[in-house]
Amino acid sequence: MIVTLDERCSIFFGDKSTSPISHKSAQHKNFCEDLRQQLGLSHLVRQYQVHKADGWNIESMSQLTSPVMLEEREGDFLITNQPGVGIAVLTADCLPIIFYAPQHHLVAAAHAGWRGSIAGIAVKVLASFTEQYGLDLSQVQVHFGPAARACCYEVQQDFLDALPLDAEPFIVSRGGKYFFDNSLFNKQQLISFGILPENINDHYNLCTMCNHQFCSYRRSTEKQEFKAQTTVVWLR
Ligand SMILES: [Zn+2]
Repeated sequence: MIVTLDERCSIFFGDKSTSPISHKSAQHKNFCEDLRQQLGLSHLVRQYQVHKADGWNIESMSQLTSPVMLEEREGDFLITNQPGVGIAVLTADCLPIIFYAPQHHLVAAAHAGWRGSIAGIAVKVLASFTEQYGLDLSQVQVHFGPAARACCYEVQQDFLDALPLDAEPFIVSRGGKYFFDNSLFNKQQLISFGILPENINDHYNLCTMCNHQFCSYRRSTEKQEFKAQTTVVWLR
């Protein structure tokens, strides 16, 4: 599904129907080349995602070495001000977060699983926005994509052990099990850093685990070759 935010910015939210092959398959690069062409992009860039909170800022076309760059760099968010450059994240339960600053013609895409969320990936994107571009965060839009939500996102002891105290309100306890509200956690981080609540759109933040139109790692029986949906944002 393509969501056009305005005449200068669009988002592609992939789902199971647009994710026919695993990103671990040798054919995946061809799939991404087809997607680049379908979306009318000069470049499509995705990193090797490692569940941390570092990223790459594409400020010049000279940083790009080929029309489709996949996993040539390690990182969990991308920022660009370059028109025609699609920046992508791959998720299958983790939360894709898209940022758009219309006045500065700037976009970002972040991959926020629980590790990245707790490492503060959303705030690190905003810090880049303010430090490198001097942005007024009150004009930044944020769009959440499909991800595992608190209805299904059960977490185990390793999660609870890693949890900072301020994340405890985002744990839901049901029937002796614990569930993490990753979307709410990120939303709260964004608001505390200066994003206006009315500028956070969670309309596309459907649960990947109980909505079977999405790829879900946790639901998948193919853990080695699981499929994941691509979320892409680009400027014109
Ligand atoms: Zn669910």
